[in-house]
Amino acid sequence: MSDDKNLKTPRLEINLHKIQENARILVENLAVKGISVTGITKASLGCPKIAKVLLSAGVNALGDSRIQNIMRMRNADITAPITLIRTPMMSQIEQVVEHATISFNTELDVINALSESAQKVGKNHGIILMLELGDLREGIMPEDIEGIVSKTLELPNIKFKGIGANLACRSGVVPDAKNMKELSDMANSLDAIFGFKMDIVSGGNSANLGWALKSLNIGRINNLCLGESFLLGLDPLTRKPIEGLYTSAFTLMAEVIESKIKPTKPWGKIGQSAFGKLPPIKEQGNISQILLAIGEQDTDPSGLTPPLGMEILGASSDHIIVKADKHSITIGNKISFKPNYAALLRAMTSPFIEKCFIS
Ligand SMILES: *Cc1c(COP(=O)(O)O)cnc(C)c1O
Repeated sequence: MSDDKNLKTPRLEINLHKIQENARILVENLAVKGISVTGITKASLGCPKIAKVLLSAGVNALGDSRIQNIMRMRNADITAPITLIRTPMMSQIEQVVEHATISFNTELDVINALSESAQKVGKNHGIILMLELGDLREGIMPEDIEGIVSKTLELPNIKFKGIGANLACRSGVVPDAKNMKELSDMANSLDAIFGFKMDIVSGGNSANLGWALKSLNIGRINNLCLGESFLLGLDPLTRKPIEGLYTSAFTLMAEVIESKIKPTKPWGKIGQSAFGKLPPIKEQGNISQILLAIGEQDTDPSGLTPPLGMEILGASSDHIIVKADKHSITIGNKISFKPNYAALLRAMTSPFIEKCFIS
């Protein structure tokens, strides 16, 4: 609990030092393996302060899935290379060419449009082709990639930079020796066919760290795109802490607007709630319940860890209901929560949550 009346609530307290240390340690440990790091800023809406911290920690480029976030970083005078890590929308081609250095791509129509737009403004645009390795999100099927590389190489103002893959996102497919070897083998085979040595072979995201740091043979993989691991210090495959990293860079603070002793069980005829069906409620008698001015609209209540001795009982659009421990809690008190990735993502994106940087 804290009571600082000068700070706005609800707020996300962001410890830039912890993020920087996490990034520095990951960059160093991967550099030993010959792997560069692209610092992914999408969970922070392309927050320039976080982007700058990542750059000073040694990431060699930034990456974001949204062109608006990339533009926000450009407006903050960030000149480092930035990769658009989602295949560009046809309706945003011009902004992509203007602001992103490289984009991840899977569709030749899009690459053609990038080429036309790049010619118009006399710029070059880098392309990384994404290979489908089984997670079934973005990716070119392995049998089709040679043809797309060949066409990409012919396009004016387009620079083919390499290939990449992304696992453990839609389907939770674990990056391992087998699928990473497939990516490496594809890089070797394309190099041999086209007579070049591609710059970038990007193995994936934070879920690749377990494989990358333990594997004795990382093959051709020389880049990872990391977000969650340096923000939360967690391995996304297990959500367990990564050794040596801080897991407390973010704290979500919410304000108490009601504090009463109430029964645990609702009364009356029960239908669905605002957010669908609810799990059964365990009877705990009359308990101390506090109401917080934060809800589904601001964060993912199911992804919050309350302070020791408290328990989240429920939530609606604008409220979270918490079971408090014995001592009574005063109206206006602030309660602190540790957000998981989903809760952090939503809080970062909510205009109702003040972002507050501490060091
Ligand atoms: C979001 C994303 C990442 C970063 O993932 P984390 O799990 O946050 O490290 C990397 N690559 C792509 C293509 C992404 O969409």
